[in-house]
Amino acid sequence: MLKGKVAIVTGAGSGIGRGIALRFAKEGADIVIPDLNLEGAQNTAKEIEALGRNSLVIKMDVSNSSDVDRMVTETINNFGKIDILVNNAGIFIQKPLLETTEADWDKVLDINLKGAFLCSKRVVKEMLKRGGGKIINLASVAGQVGFANSSAYCASKGGVINLTREMALELAPKNINVNAIGPGSIETPMTREMLADPAIKQMLLGVTPFGRIGQPEDIANAASFLASGESNFVNGITLFVDGGWLTQ
Ligand code: NAP
Repeated sequence: MLKGKVAIVTGAGSGIGRGIALRFAKEGADIVIPDLNLEGAQNTAKEIEALGRNSLVIKMDVSNSSDVDRMVTETINNFGKIDILVNNAGIFIQKPLLETTEADWDKVLDINLKGAFLCSKRVVKEMLKRGGGKIINLASVAGQVGFANSSAYCASKGGVINLTREMALELAPKNINVNAIGPGSIETPMTREMLADPAIKQMLLGVTPFGRIGQPEDIANAASFLASGESNFVNGITLFVDGGWLTQ
């Protein structure tokens, strides 16, 4: 249970982040929702308030350090502390290597990898003042194995997995756990277009031994564990929630 905790879930205006935010709120946490997508963030906030918890919407870009600083300042001004950070905001650009531009590469790496670094660095300063915390990074099966036509995405998520190990090592003596979740195929706005193509959907079902596409709730279950005291001796792992994809 997360009663009395304050959690920042970046990108919680949509998909997996929304699922994690609602799960944390059901467990008693107040939730900060930083997102580029203001309308989505406001909708998630309404759902959190309907659950009887407090929420704070912040329109921001995780790859912009002054936005990240403002996000933390507003969180502290409103809630006084940060117990949990979920670095969830991310983008996926699907293009063959030869069509991937330098701008595509920079955008994906800036949001998916630098964003996690910037948010963690700023939030850790606050966690240190209170003697600990929990950080959860959203990686992907595409950070562990290759996924065609996604060079920047694969590189960013591989980076997230090893950034998680590095931060776990460095922050363990400060009582901060850092872990990642590696989703397989999850039904969200990010994957809507891919899953609408019957051939791609069949391919994704074919690599998933459980034979179904995952839901944000599947990821929220893992996030709930990694945010709770139940995972106090778990550090630096990537918990793959992929229906068994990576067993092959
Ligand atoms: P999603 O539905 O597209 O939601 C991502 C949210 O993050 C959106 O609200 C998006 O806003 C926001 N966002 C994007 N760039 C941002 C930025 N620079 N600053 C702040 N917010 C930003 O995606 P999802 O499927 O829930 O994915 C969540 C995380 O899980 C991502 O890190 C993704 O890589 C990872 N993941 C997803 C899957 C999957 O199958 N869905 C699998 C493996 C890993 P906009 O809508 O305005 O862009």
